[in-house]
Amino acid sequence: MSKFAIDLVTRLMSIPGKSCEEQLIAQAVIDELLAMGVPQKSIAFDTAHTRTPQRGQVGNLIVKLPGKKGRPRIMLSAHMDTVPICVGCEPKRKGNVIISAKSTTGLGADDRAGVAAVLVALKNYVGKADAPPITACFFVQEEIGLQGSRALSVNKLGDPAYALNFDGGNPYKLTLGATGGERMAIRLKGIPAHAGIAPQQGASAIHAAGIAIAALHKGKWLGAVKRGKLTGTSNIGVIQGGSATNVVADNVEIAAEARSHDSTLRTAIADAIEKAFQDAAAQVVSDSGSPVVAEVSRRVDYDSFRLGEDSPIVEMTRRAITELGAKPESGVTNGGIDANWLVKHGIPTVTLGCGQRDVHTNKEQLDIADYLAACEIATKVVSYVAR
Ligand SMILES: [Zn+2]
Repeated sequence: MSKFAIDLVTRLMSIPGKSCEEQLIAQAVIDELLAMGVPQKSIAFDTAHTRTPQRGQVGNLIVKLPGKKGRPRIMLSAHMDTVPICVGCEPKRKGNVIISAKSTTGLGADDRAGVAAVLVALKNYVGKADAPPITACFFVQEEIGLQGSRALSVNKLGDPAYALNFDGGNPYKLTLGATGGERMAIRLKGIPAHAGIAPQQGASAIHAAGIAIAALHKGKWLGAVKRGKLTGTSNIGVIQGGSATNVVADNVEIAAEARSHDSTLRTAIADAIEKAFQDAAAQVVSDSGSPVVAEVSRRVDYDSFRLGEDSPIVEMTRRAITELGAKPESGVTNGGIDANWLVKHGIPTVTLGCGQRDVHTNKEQLDIADYLAACEIATKVVSYVAR
């Protein structure tokens, strides 16, 4: 298995496929599926790419294999897109790792190693009478905010009972939860006036922004946020506005975010940010009584989730890792992962890494032993479902 698995991941990493441009890599995955005997009729795309904010070339690629009657359906998943730095990668083996031969590109093992691990597991079960029903799902547009899994056509999956998702990192660490994130766009509309001749006729959007940010700082709503036992984070990441020193600023645009494993705290942080800007805007008024106006738009990027240790997919994954002689660990991540949306879609999902290191950089590497372990874990977990 290991030569096939290593050759496969090397082939997949050499194919460009940044977010929204997944056509080539999807075709390569289809070619691999057909070569291992998956019938054409079991392979389909959904229409997620027509519902994402940035339209992509293709939707999520879904493979649905029948299996033993009475057994639950298991889903294996990974994302096909890479970050742009990986385009043009020439993968090269160097001892126990695979690296990019060119120092200017990343490797793209995030997440082609995940795609390969799912394919290796599938290959072990295609056409086998004692296999359980298996769905494989290859997501698009993960790297630009989980857009593919968010817009997933869930009704095309064949109702999986649970999923094992492969993404960047350590194959022995089960990610059982992730934070939820909310993005905010705040626009302060002031009243312009000549700052030297008649500033009182204006209302400065920049003044209002300053008051709001100071209030949030004072209320300890910025950065690491702690309320009782709950923790979260917030950030004002972008601020743009004004036009000249002699003009009272009539426009400021701000982008902010709030995150927490607890959706109540996440919402409380976002509420506090919204209120601070509304209150501050109302305090900055022209002499004719017109205030700055704040427009706040909010979008929940993904909800937080947390799987229990007694969830069947958690137990099976732990067992597979233990059988490989390793020690399973579990944890939660402060980033968003496709599992956020899978859990929201009603599919309990464990996420494992495949041995990728320094992802999203030109130093990215794939640890071959860890990658092969991920392939084994995927294969073993499917075997437990069959029984
Ligand atoms: Zn990834």
